Amino acid sequence: MVLGWRGILREFADHLPLTKDTPLLTLNEGNTPLIEATKLSGMLGEGVRLFLKYEGLNPSGSFKDRGMVLAVAKAVEEGARKVVCASTGNTSASAAAYAARAGLDCLVLIPHGKVALGKLAQAIMYGARVIAVEGNFDQALAIVQEMSMRQQDIILVNSVNPYRLEGQKTAAYEVCRDLGKAPDFLAIPVGNAGNISAYWKGFCEVYESNPSLSRPRMLGFQAAGAAPLVTGQTVDKPETVATAIRIGCPVNREKAIMAVQQSGGIFESVTDREILQAYWLLAEKEGVFAEPASSAAVAGVLKLARSGYFPPGSTIVSVLTGNGLKDPDTAMFKGAKPMILPASLDAIEEALHGELVGV
Ligand SMILES: *Cc1c(COP(=O)(O)O)cnc(C)c1O
Repeated sequence: MVLGWRGILREFADHLPLTKDTPLLTLNEGNTPLIEATKLSGMLGEGVRLFLKYEGLNPSGSFKDRGMVLAVAKAVEEGARKVVCASTGNTSASAAAYAARAGLDCLVLIPHGKVALGKLAQAIMYGARVIAVEGNFDQALAIVQEMSMRQQDIILVNSVNPYRLEGQKTAAYEVCRDLGKAPDFLAIPVGNAGNISAYWKGFCEVYESNPSLSRPRMLGFQAAGAAPLVTGQTVDKPETVATAIRIGCPVNREKAIMAVQQSGGIFESVTDREILQAYWLLAEKEGVFAEPASSAAVAGVLKLARSGYFPPGSTIVSVLTGNGLKDPDTAMFKGAKPMILPASLDAIEEALHGELVGV
């Protein structure tokens, strides 16, 4: 018997569409930390508390694992041999990991040149067949959708697969468990709009079983160059430094709009500059390294706070969807490079010009 955390399928069995034939696949995903952002909270208004749901600590480094474990388990249950997905990076890393675990083949289509290096490295390491298409995510998704429609034994594991959202909703249960209540606001980056829909479903389920907990307002943040849910218009050529949300035509748009409307929340956009500033702030002030897309939600919270959006005493949870280590290129873009010096204390002291206390 294992006494620790046993992964999404076992821990949330009562809330998931499992049957006796569903294999209890796991890489011990879920149960990620909720970290209070003590420094950033002070920038948000009187008594406002910001918490970070650090999903970058899932086994493949993003929240995608919560839904992928269920989608792949269900694919096995249905007798599939192969899973496919289009991906801005993290879906492919996660699909490849769980396919490897389950003994399935995995094919991923990614937009050529627009996937962070670490994510590509993961898909390759986990043994997926990786194809880089000369097009964007939306085009790649259209191709794999058609592929899976033509062939019964190939299962599509993008977030049009309903099991993805079922698995992902478990994060909302964890947030309520850790806070002892629902937050007043849930801030989240929005790409294909699956995760915001999944969180809303989770919060609604928790609320149904315990109405004293209430439900948060859902704040969905998109990058200014890829903001179809803010502008109401599909974006043909989405562009942003936050490659994980570089999506112009979100497949879950209707569900996401419903989540925002029902909860009394909003969609808002943030510029790449604001995203990078939040990315650096998170790392430097809180010691939390999240990827650019994740930082878009924190950028959004900072932007709303500047216009006095948050009532005093509000509790905000911002979902940090992916791990900063996945995107070393954007991290190095910050500009600071290590000084290269001889291996001598004198040389180092001289270079630091007394920056060190006591030398
Ligand atoms: C997939 C992803 C998103 C966007 O999630 P959607 O469900 O597509 O809206 C945001 N951030 C990261 C790091 C992701 O991998």
